Amino acid sequence: MAKCNTASAHEVARIINLKTGTALLIRSDRKILRRNLVSGQWLTFKKIKEGVSIEAFIAHHLNKPNAHWVPLKRGMIPSFEAISRMESNGIAEATDGCEHIEPDGTCIHGMPAWTEVALRHGFAG
Ligand SMILES: [Zn+2]
Repeated sequence: MAKCNTASAHEVARIINLKTGTALLIRSDRKILRRNLVSGQWLTFKKIKEGVSIEAFIAHHLNKPNAHWVPLKRGMIPSFEAISRMESNGIAEATDGCEHIEPDGTCIHGMPAWTEVALRHGFAG
C-alpha cells in the first residue's frame, strides 16, 4: 500500500475515469497511485514522465474530450461491500452517481454500474 502523503510528498489531486472506474491519486513527487476497488487502498501505479508537469498531467486528463476524467470527490467510490450488495440486490449505482440501474448495465449517460466496473477490474484493482 502506498501512502497518499509522505514526509517528502503530498497529495496534489485525485481524479476518476467515470467510464472505467479507474481512480488515480497524483502526488507532488510525481508518483501516481491507483485505487484498488476491493481493498480501497492506493497502490503505486506509475510516475509522470519527465518533461511533463504535474499540473499539465492533470489538466491533460481532465480536459481530454470524451475521456470522462473528473475530479474525484469523497464518497464517489462505493465500498466493496456496497458493490457486493448492489450485485446481490440486482440494483446498482453508476459511476456518475445515477441510481437504480442494472448491475451489468449503464445509466442514461452511458456510464457503467460499479458492479460492472468491479468485474472488469477482475476484483484485482
Ligand atoms: Zn448517469
